[in-house]
Amino acid sequence: MTVERTYVMLKPDCVQRGLCGDVIARIEHKGYRIVDAKMIQLDEPILREHYAHLTDKPFFPEIVEYMTSGPVLAMIIEGEDAIQGVRIIMGKTKFEDAEAGTIRGDYASSTRYNLIHGSDSPEAAEAEIKRFFG
Ligand code: UDP
Ligand code: MG
Repeated sequence: MTVERTYVMLKPDCVQRGLCGDVIARIEHKGYRIVDAKMIQLDEPILREHYAHLTDKPFFPEIVEYMTSGPVLAMIIEGEDAIQGVRIIMGKTKFEDAEAGTIRGDYASSTRYNLIHGSDSPEAAEAEIKRFFG
């Protein structure tokens, strides 16, 4: 077990649907701690960096439209094995695979509109915390 920091972002649909409180409660109840948090408005350049693995996909413009549709709540979350742990409570990316009891399984309305981002590796966590918190 290692204490880790991970980058978590509550996406525009989570903010617009008023689900931030529920999602943060799930993260805190699991034992993770909010180290820093801020509301930010994303733009296309930062999304091209953050979602560099998706810029070639035909649906990339729709991701940009979604992720710029309103503010997001950016957070640094800390705890034991927090990187993988947050991914587990988030639920799977594919809408049909996201299990009940996970954030996405309970609330996502599609593979796109899935409420939450969490870093998927220690390297990603470090780069994303730097990208969004400096
Ligand atoms: N996404 C999408 N369609 C797809 C795959 C991904 O709209 O077929 C969106 C979705 O919002 C997802 C984000 O792009 O959360 C980033 O995709 P990634 O594969 O990194 O999934 P995640 O790490 O968010 O589970
Ligand atoms: Mg990802």
